[in-house]
Amino acid sequence: MMEKRAEIGIIGGSGVYDPGLFEEVEEIKVYTPFGAPSSLISLGTYKGVKVAFIPRHGRGHTIPPHRVNYRANIWALRELGVKRVIASSAVGSLREDYRPGDFVIPDQFIDRTRKRLDTFYEGGQLCHISSADPFCPQLREFFIGLTKELGFQVHDRGTYVCIEGPRFSTRAESRLFRSWGADIIGMTLYPECVLAREAELCYVSVAMVTDYDVWAEKPVSTEEVIRTMRSNAEKFKKLIMEAIPRIPKERTCDCQHALKDALL
Ligand SMILES: [Zn+2]
Repeated sequence: MMEKRAEIGIIGGSGVYDPGLFEEVEEIKVYTPFGAPSSLISLGTYKGVKVAFIPRHGRGHTIPPHRVNYRANIWALRELGVKRVIASSAVGSLREDYRPGDFVIPDQFIDRTRKRLDTFYEGGQLCHISSADPFCPQLREFFIGLTKELGFQVHDRGTYVCIEGPRFSTRAESRLFRSWGADIIGMTLYPECVLAREAELCYVSVAMVTDYDVWAEKPVSTEEVIRTMRSNAEKFKKLIMEAIPRIPKERTCDCQHALKDALL
């Protein structure tokens, strides 16, 4: 019986439902004060590193982006002792040079969600977490380096506009987001990343472009999108297999002290 702990947490986005590469996988149920995570959590090891995996949309992709219990997912990972969260997501591109199949390691976000519970601090203890630089700088640098080393096309910065969904944008919205300087668009980054920050976890978003958003006037078939998503998932798996044993043991970033100046 393995100890129910993990160092690294992986949140699988669209197309990434199964770790499929870990040893001694155990499915565990984690209870949180915020309800149930998206599914049972798979705990396993890979090259001696303990990893926890949650498919963000549940097994069989039944939970839409606006109904994901982001708080429960992050809380559950924290409960398991996770210090680093690697979150994959499928995104649309808002610029010509971020092409389908490319990786993007975003450095900023714009929140366009409307009805999500986005803090662990609902009163009593107040918390104003900094989100000036919302992602872990150490993990960003690590993943940018590793994707390059593996020969994948990667963009080392990007502003991710997170929309509420589940509908896609209008043409006008898509053009507006471009004019704001947003580079990619998706439905799941927020509030996941800020909750991780509130939990003092390191969080990196590994975004993969599936298609151009509607501004580009490049109609794509669902079939094409699914094909790109499948190939992206394969790339993500390769990246993860390389990453897990090589992520530096020591945290040199400030993520672990995120609450220091945030609590009132
Ligand atoms: Zn960090």
